[in-house]
Amino acid sequence: MTGNQPLLSLRGIKKYFPVGSGLFGKRNHFIKAVDGVELDIYPGETVGLVGESGCGKSTIGRMVVGLTDPTGGEIYFDGKKLSDYKRGKDFGRDLQMIFQDSYSSLDPRMTVSDIVAEPLVLHKFGTKIERKKRVDELLERVGLASYHSSRYPIEFSGGQRQRIGIARALALQPKLIICDEPVSALDVSIQAQILNLLKEIQRDMGLSYLFIAHGMQVVKHVSDKVAVMYLGRVAEFARKEELFENPQHPYTKALLSAVPLPDPKLRDRERIILKGDLPSPANPPTGCRFHTRCPVVMEKCKTTDPTLLQIAEDRWTACLLHNAQRT
Ligand code: SF4
Repeated sequence: MTGNQPLLSLRGIKKYFPVGSGLFGKRNHFIKAVDGVELDIYPGETVGLVGESGCGKSTIGRMVVGLTDPTGGEIYFDGKKLSDYKRGKDFGRDLQMIFQDSYSSLDPRMTVSDIVAEPLVLHKFGTKIERKKRVDELLERVGLASYHSSRYPIEFSGGQRQRIGIARALALQPKLIICDEPVSALDVSIQAQILNLLKEIQRDMGLSYLFIAHGMQVVKHVSDKVAVMYLGRVAEFARKEELFENPQHPYTKALLSAVPLPDPKLRDRERIILKGDLPSPANPPTGCRFHTRCPVVMEKCKTTDPTLLQIAEDRWTACLLHNAQRT
């Protein structure tokens, strides 16, 4: 179920990190980690953000929760510019993040109870007794018991620590959670439990997720829509079913060709092997950023930068095979 107005809108957001220095210490070179990303997330939906390491997906998550400021563009949350929110108050309440490394994201000196209650204390939620009751409810919601509340993070497995991180993120009943590769450090069987827990919570609470992952199978499991990122830009954005059944961008096709299929009849499909490594975002290729690795590259791809254009309802791609061109 989704609403009519986006809960989160990214409008041409950029994040450039300065590197090196020129005359008089002036920074003259930048790593363009995110370079003009457009994306909408509607209430109650999950958008998967997928791509190779270094494509800028985690930087987007960090900008959305205010851990780093954009270099350019604008982020809108619930109809308001994110930069207009007063950080730490209404802002922190509705937007939360779950991190990949559940161990380093939880303070080892704090008990589980104090970790989960911390956002409640910061936002002056109820009395001590009411906060204790809320912590117990949250622990139960994520599959832990109230007797776990006096223990420390080191006493838990990776999956249990991720449950503690989820309980903490849910404490203030947020509207959007940024899930930054929350299962990539877990065993496959535990991954499925955490993904199913996130889906159940979404069903119960109607919240939205921006789900960042580097594997196509994980985003397929949880997402309503998927944005495929390459070198700081969105290469393709579509509803999950359409993207997986009929990918349009050559990069999406290559990523999907590597996904194992359960149907034996489909297992002999052609595997698309990409040449070389992801180029450096400090020195991205001219024209289409994917042209140095694209299996169907054309001469014009080396000089013409494709823009992300809508090709059908809820369907966007940045490829000269489908798009109008920009020079
Ligand atoms: Fe490949 Fe050219 Fe399309 Fe880029 S614009 S993805 S290089 S075909």
